[in-house]
Amino acid sequence: ATVFLNDTFLPAEQAKVSVYDRGFLFGDGVYEVIPVYGRQPFRLKAHLSRLQNSLDGIHLSNPFDDAHWTQLITQLIEHNEGENQAVYLQVTRGVAPREHVFPQGVKPTVFMMSNPLNAVPSLYKTQGIKAITVDDIRWQRCDIKAIALLPNTMLRQQAHEQGAGEAILIRDGVMTEGSASNSYAVFDGVIYTAAKDNTVLSGITRDFVLELAAMTGIPVREESVTADRLTQADEIWISSSTRELLPVTTLDDKPVGQGLPGPIWQTVNELYQRHKLEMNV
Ligand code: PMP
Repeated sequence: ATVFLNDTFLPAEQAKVSVYDRGFLFGDGVYEVIPVYGRQPFRLKAHLSRLQNSLDGIHLSNPFDDAHWTQLITQLIEHNEGENQAVYLQVTRGVAPREHVFPQGVKPTVFMMSNPLNAVPSLYKTQGIKAITVDDIRWQRCDIKAIALLPNTMLRQQAHEQGAGEAILIRDGVMTEGSASNSYAVFDGVIYTAAKDNTVLSGITRDFVLELAAMTGIPVREESVTADRLTQADEIWISSSTRELLPVTTLDDKPVGQGLPGPIWQTVNELYQRHKLEMNV
């Protein structure tokens, strides 16, 4: 595969980063994952705007303007095969002697790669997936898409070891999001999802899902749901750029609602599939 590192496109095997890179030593960087449908990046502007927010959040200046990012991402897609891809990009604070205080005048390290965006297995849509609830052990700035993902990987691994596809995180007694997704609960035809604050990532897919719900007149409340109430939900969903919108049909080994993908999920997912090409703003 062809990847991008700093200022050039090159084969992945030839792309090398210093052991002094702050991304490697401190996890000091931010990232984005942009889905590509039919060789077109989906909602690129929104991803670049979130990248800017993440960079602002860690006090790192953006190495490129949006026009330049767009040009580079377009080229990366051209260099890679496949109609549907997942572009991964990360910016770290660069290479410097190991010292906590930010180095001055150091060029950020920019890395981008594109992987195939595999279709979500149809079983996940016909049967739904399993999830577990876990204590949200992450930091207080989950609105920053930081590359430091140790809590997320640990919680996701815990889910995996229990035969589940996602960990739903509970902080102060309420659902925040998934380990790598936003999360939703449906009660009496109303969709609930956590409000955008420092406890969740502002998902681009979440925005899309809420637009689709608004289009069909399904009410949405951006409010927290307690872990207790979650056990009584009619439906639970997760969303992300790579997994789109998936129904959770088993939570902590108990069926969610009837234990099958629910009608509200069916409606919104159908719209998702119908509109994901042309609602690309
Ligand atoms: N929350 C977390 C913690 C995530 O890692 C992700 C996926 N990167 C999301 C939410 C969903 O964001 P998006 O819809 O932009 O992929």
